[in-house]
Amino acid sequence: MKLNQTEGHWHRDLAKSISSIDKLIQEDVAACEKLERSELEKIKSHLDIRVPATFLDEIKKNNTALAKQFIPTRSELIFFPEELEDPIGDHIFSPVPGLTHRYPDRVLFKPTYTCASYCRFCFRRTQVSHQKSNAETYRAAFHYISEHSEIWEVILSGGDPLVLPDPILEQIMTELAKIPHIKIIRLHTRIPSVLPTRITPQLIALLKGSGKSIWVAVHINCAEEFTPACTQALSTLAENGIPVVLQSVLLKDINDSEDALISLLKTAVENRVKPYYLHYPDLARGTEHFRIPLKKAIALVKGLRGKISGLSIPQLIIDLPEGKGKIPVNAHKMVEVSENFWELESPIDGSLIQIRYPQEPRKEQK
Ligand SMILES: *Cc1c(COP(=O)(O)O)cnc(C)c1O
Ligand code: SF4
Repeated sequence: MKLNQTEGHWHRDLAKSISSIDKLIQEDVAACEKLERSELEKIKSHLDIRVPATFLDEIKKNNTALAKQFIPTRSELIFFPEELEDPIGDHIFSPVPGLTHRYPDRVLFKPTYTCASYCRFCFRRTQVSHQKSNAETYRAAFHYISEHSEIWEVILSGGDPLVLPDPILEQIMTELAKIPHIKIIRLHTRIPSVLPTRITPQLIALLKGSGKSIWVAVHINCAEEFTPACTQALSTLAENGIPVVLQSVLLKDINDSEDALISLLKTAVENRVKPYYLHYPDLARGTEHFRIPLKKAIALVKGLRGKISGLSIPQLIIDLPEGKGKIPVNAHKMVEVSENFWELESPIDGSLIQIRYPQEPRKEQK
């Protein structure tokens, strides 16, 4: 296949990422030099390695927030008893390979298990970089979706759906376009941050060509990820009428301070990206070094309300094991003390306000 010019850029940029142990050792990135080759090989066997070229200079300057996300460390080989192979129970609600149907009106479809960078905290690390999709799994997924008219939204996740070449994405869009009950196609992607040149005019055209409402949930964890190229990619999406929301993971030493979190969230809004979910890290094996105590996570998020614009505030989310689903964590106290009588915590000064809200049905006052 001959690539035209803009199309060619992203393939070239992807090829520049560091994905072999030799190259990693050669590039001499700080955290890696202390690891033996055999350790790196062991780590790679759990989750492949790929450091995005776009952050290499910053990583070499010891930018912890970027280095810790992409550079493998020995901690990944330490497993704790509460950590799970399938931390959110993807397989429990999987009617056909690559598809998870946990919530009635939407399915998660993984058309690929490859990513443009491998995040060391990846919660799907036993699938990502190991499993493969093929024509048969695609056929089965499209068939299931078309047979289930309660499905309103298809979430393309993975892996990263945007590492797929245009002809494959076009095929997915064409298949979904044929299904009348599908109104929304949402893409979960890290690409605008780690491979921004992938957001080409051709890509936009093929997404819009589906005729469905396209939403993008971009995965970004620190303000430094909003490079000029990333800002450009996000603008392209916004200017083409594709709403973008932010999904971040709350990560130790990466965004677990109030300053780092506020900087991330405000930079997102400045880029027309609405913070949607802030995930407490799932209990994936070998990821303990990324978790902070839940109590601290709640306090951090609580500190945002009443301080920064509501536009910048995401919902803190825990995704329960065994497919029990996502739950929003309420940071502020809210207790029904007695029938319709509530005690609520003020985000301004922390005081507890007691307040009666109306009962139902209500008799008219004469
Ligand atoms: C996270 C997830 C979704 C999306 O949930 P939203 O709350 O709509 O963002 C859908 N399906 C599965 C299986 C998921 O894990
Ligand atoms: S982009 Fe997502 S799926 Fe891919 S390695 Fe990172 S967290 Fe995992």
